[in-house]
Amino acid sequence: MNQKHKKSYNFLPINHRDMEERGWDELDVLFVTGDAYIDHPAFGTPLLARLLEHHGYRVGIIAQPDWKNPTVFKVMGRPRLFAAISAGAMDSMVNHYTAAKKIRRNDAYTPGGIAGKRPNRAVIAYTGAVKGIFKGLPTIIGGIEASLRRLAHYDYWDDKVRRSILVDSKADLLLYGMAETALLEIAQRLHTGAHISELCNVKGTAFLSKTASEKAVLLPSFEMVSTDTDRYNEAFKLASLQENPWSAKTLIQAHGSRYLFVNPPALPLSEKKLDAIYALPFTRQPHTEYDQKIPAYEQIRHSITSHRGCFGGCAFCAITHHQGKTVQSRSQQSILDEISRIAEQNDFHGTISDVGGPTANMYGLRCGNPAAEKNCRRPSCLFPDMCNNLNTDDKKATEVLRVIRQQPKVKHVFIGSGIRYDLLSFQQQYFDDLLQYHVSGLLKVAPESTSGRVTKVMRKPGAEVFTEFLDQFRKRSRDLGLRQSVVPYLISNHPGCTLDDMIEVALYLKQQQLKVEQVQDFTPTPGSLSTCIYHSGKDPFSGETIYIPRSAKERQLQKALLLYHQTDSRTDILEALKICRREDVAVELFGQQDYQQTTKRPQKRRALAKK
Ligand code: SF4
Repeated sequence: MNQKHKKSYNFLPINHRDMEERGWDELDVLFVTGDAYIDHPAFGTPLLARLLEHHGYRVGIIAQPDWKNPTVFKVMGRPRLFAAISAGAMDSMVNHYTAAKKIRRNDAYTPGGIAGKRPNRAVIAYTGAVKGIFKGLPTIIGGIEASLRRLAHYDYWDDKVRRSILVDSKADLLLYGMAETALLEIAQRLHTGAHISELCNVKGTAFLSKTASEKAVLLPSFEMVSTDTDRYNEAFKLASLQENPWSAKTLIQAHGSRYLFVNPPALPLSEKKLDAIYALPFTRQPHTEYDQKIPAYEQIRHSITSHRGCFGGCAFCAITHHQGKTVQSRSQQSILDEISRIAEQNDFHGTISDVGGPTANMYGLRCGNPAAEKNCRRPSCLFPDMCNNLNTDDKKATEVLRVIRQQPKVKHVFIGSGIRYDLLSFQQQYFDDLLQYHVSGLLKVAPESTSGRVTKVMRKPGAEVFTEFLDQFRKRSRDLGLRQSVVPYLISNHPGCTLDDMIEVALYLKQQQLKVEQVQDFTPTPGSLSTCIYHSGKDPFSGETIYIPRSAKERQLQKALLLYHQTDSRTDILEALKICRREDVAVELFGQQDYQQTTKRPQKRRALAKK
């Protein structure tokens, strides 16, 4: 065994030689993923594969297979129980295309960042290949692409409502959300002789049936929602009732002559179970077969996932639909154990790049009223205002950061995950510690908009709360003698956002001397409330008609307004101001000198042309 090969033994098998070394003649479960194989708990497929391995199953991973060459799916032979298929950490269409539907040149989950290593609609392509080769083998799809496309859904790239991905992929079962409990149950039941068609009652799964059930909540059918936006909104609203895992009912949606059943979500994991997952023997490295760096790995190699779930309920984000609203936090000891493992890595020089989850300052927080939590129907604990039942005690979060800072090999601990700034005013100690120890000069926060009309659609706090946060941030940083700034993240072209709204946002940024580094142009990704509004032009809950910026020109002008400080944006901004009859604010936005230069430039060009 050469050196490289010796090291690869610590990874899960990726070929037949790896299996032979373990004395295996077949796998129990074959995992197929659209990402490179990075044996790290931040990635779903390796995490689930390690979990099954821990429970005694023989698992192997085929990462980024050439889907046009079916023989590559055979490298480890036919698995005994099933194939578990995922597009990877991102939906393959989001991974491939920008908001303007242009092809992206990079893929962060591939060695060298090279694009094109996975197909469009990867779940469908991989499932087709596996089914073609291993006739009759149960196929189970999961991951973000399958999870958020579990019901009939609007697809931005096709600009139409598509069927459930379970129907289009022809897989046997769909796993949605965080899949540990469901996948283990499926493996155990198949192992003890159950047929895949008998697995109709596993929480967190969806399946197809020829008969309906009177006990389930019937959604408008695919045929209805694909032709009628009101029925689409009705289905979205009914499906949202399923988000509470304690009180959820099964949903049914007819697709032609069959019925899609979506069972209630899996219950959140206990701290003990979550800790056990993070204690699995991950190598924390990309597989040794890769020669080039993988950008997504470089970002997370020294970071810690301290929790999962988010109770923010932002309209454009699908985390609640995938990870759930309940925040599930790891214990301090489990996090410290992982820090120790990171500290042993040769490439660790003392900096932990993140301790977080979907929202960093939600670590350790949860509903303080268990009875209310079990029946709660609010999509957010923070919007439109903070629920009285929410426990905002920052003790656990500050304590864990304090203890990490004290670890001998740790010099810096940064918070790279997003922060909910409206929560911070209830977390005084966390706020102070964040500024004093965990910000590297720039704190990224995401007001997403500062126009009240737009933040209402987004289910985010408005400008007032953001201004209060900015004042606090600046005052506290001054008191601590630190020169730190805020980098705001804002979305252009979100449903509800007009050019007038964007002018208001640009003026706000100018007044607060804030500069956006990168504009996030709204992309209607599967499963979110904002996507539903984008498609139907109405809020499914209030029925209110919402303005949707759709034209390429408006999209360009909205983006330019967010970049008011960049010279390249000025012509577009002047055009936007003219359309909205707001030329009066041009000087305020550009400053007198820049305004004069900008407005003179075309005249100069005309003069030159005459010569
Ligand atoms: S009762 Fe309040 S705090 Fe509890 S889950 Fe519901 S919204 Fe959140």
